[in-house]
Amino acid sequence: MSRKHVFQFVELPRQMPQRIPLELRTSGDWGEMYGKFALPEAQHQAGRCLDCGNPYCSWKCPVHNAIPQWLQLVQENRIEEAAALCHTTNPLPEMCGRVCPQDRLCEGSCTLEDGFGAVTIGAVEKYIVDAALEKGWRPDLSEVVATGRRVAVVGAGPAGLACADVLARNGIHAVVFDRYEQIGGLMQFGIPSFKLEKSIIARRREVLEGMGVEFRLGVEIGKDLGIDELLADYDAVFLGTGAYRYTDGGLPGQDLGNVLPALPFLVQNGRIVGGNDPWGRPIAGWEDTIQLPDMAGKRVVVLGGGDTGMDCVRSAIRLGAARVTCAYRRDEANMPGSAREVANAREEGVRFLFNRAPLAIEGEDDVVIGVRVVETRLGEPDARGRRSAVPIEGSESVLEADIVIIAFGFSPTVPEWLAAQGVEGSPNGRIVVSGSLPDESGGLPFQTTNPKLFAGGDAVRGADLVVTAVAEGRDAAHSIARMLLG
Ligand SMILES: Cc1cc2nc3c(=O)[nH]c(=O)nc-3n(C[C@H](O)[C@H](O)[C@H](O)COP(=O)(O)OP(=O)(O)OC[C@H]3O[C@@H](n4cnc5c(N)ncnc54)[C@H](O)[C@@H]3O)c2cc1C
Ligand code: SF4
Repeated sequence: MSRKHVFQFVELPRQMPQRIPLELRTSGDWGEMYGKFALPEAQHQAGRCLDCGNPYCSWKCPVHNAIPQWLQLVQENRIEEAAALCHTTNPLPEMCGRVCPQDRLCEGSCTLEDGFGAVTIGAVEKYIVDAALEKGWRPDLSEVVATGRRVAVVGAGPAGLACADVLARNGIHAVVFDRYEQIGGLMQFGIPSFKLEKSIIARRREVLEGMGVEFRLGVEIGKDLGIDELLADYDAVFLGTGAYRYTDGGLPGQDLGNVLPALPFLVQNGRIVGGNDPWGRPIAGWEDTIQLPDMAGKRVVVLGGGDTGMDCVRSAIRLGAARVTCAYRRDEANMPGSAREVANAREEGVRFLFNRAPLAIEGEDDVVIGVRVVETRLGEPDARGRRSAVPIEGSESVLEADIVIIAFGFSPTVPEWLAAQGVEGSPNGRIVVSGSLPDESGGLPFQTTNPKLFAGGDAVRGADLVVTAVAEGRDAAHSIARMLLG
């Protein structure tokens, strides 16, 4: 191993890959905003790792990536070994490198974060996997022995894909069903292409198929195929069905013309940008394709401060809106969206109004003309520990708007066909599973109240992140392997 220059971080500043120039981003370029490192840049940035001995970055990463180890391999130009190491903990490392809110996860815990700037962990992870896959490297399953066991995976989102990857590595044949024609779940049709280009997902499908994972797409379980048939034909079933129940703010005026729900807006726009209809059927719960108003020159107000809200404001900018405002009811520090995405949105010209809660959407001739908001202050923490937004009397005003996008989030539901199989849901619609350690009743982690059915991702934890869905899909697959193989 080459000898490490431990204080490299003092001389070399933190550097992200080059970004597409601002003028292009704000004039309708939908390509990924961040470029790629070349090998020397990746090596320089990897060399900033202190190897501090207590890798908080790995602990904070939901899949506990071996970050210092693969950073070292990059410095030694052992990229394929680094890629193999990445895949031992994460089946979708190139996606996570692109879309994880690293400032809240691995990079936020880097010892260098305060004072010198964290190691660019996400960008190096993306480099490793893109470079290895481009060179033709593929996961090596040559030593895996087929067990003859078969598992059905419902949902080709990150939870389902992660589960299928681990099953394949354990010699279990995974058949992944999804109601849409493309794999990826929300990575495919929710996250815009300026964060994750869709060719990256297509390449991952090819990798997984090479590992023996089978996809049956355009098949909706509970409609086109019964869960009873899956239970009869397979040794176990994993449910990675996501969270698609739209949080209805119940705002007066939300049915006015030019008031758009966030996900159908992003999906429909993604279809237009991608130039095709990769889903083959309407997005769940939105049977009609929504008509997108022309945003050029318009005033757009986005309500909500999460990742979905950030994707909406940045999409509106690319669609030529004259002014884009994000109104959020708490302050910036309490905003759920990633700080990096907020900074990118700001740079692209988005105006943020914090401590503004919407009261009603106002209209004229059935079309929106503004949003009535009230100023707020932070109150006591709620049940989840988040401080409530308390309206300030007499502080109401109207934000003028030609188009309003509502991005209040999503939650899961337990469909009837699952409940009929004895799968319990919590009052907020999450599928109930056993804890992270085998519990006293003998339940395995991520096993539902029907022992043959396992679940993970947004369907279990509520709308969250790609990497947490990956972590749960993997853990559930380990439980399935334990149940089937001992
Ligand atoms: C707009 C938006 C932006 C986001 N941005 C980010 C981001 O930047 N970073 C990040 O980490 N996370 C982001 N997220 C969150 C992230 O995408 C999700 O947390 C993650 O995709 C959840 O993975 P999952 O596998 O649990 O569910 P999903 O990705 O929702 O996948 C579930 C799959 O199950 C399929 N399915 C459901 N029911 C059935 C059925 N009955 N039969 C067959 N198939 C079925 C669905 O079609 C879908 O493909 C974003 C989410 C949204 C909406
Ligand atoms: S998976 Fe996400 S949190 Fe973990 S190292 Fe990669 S970018 Fe960081």
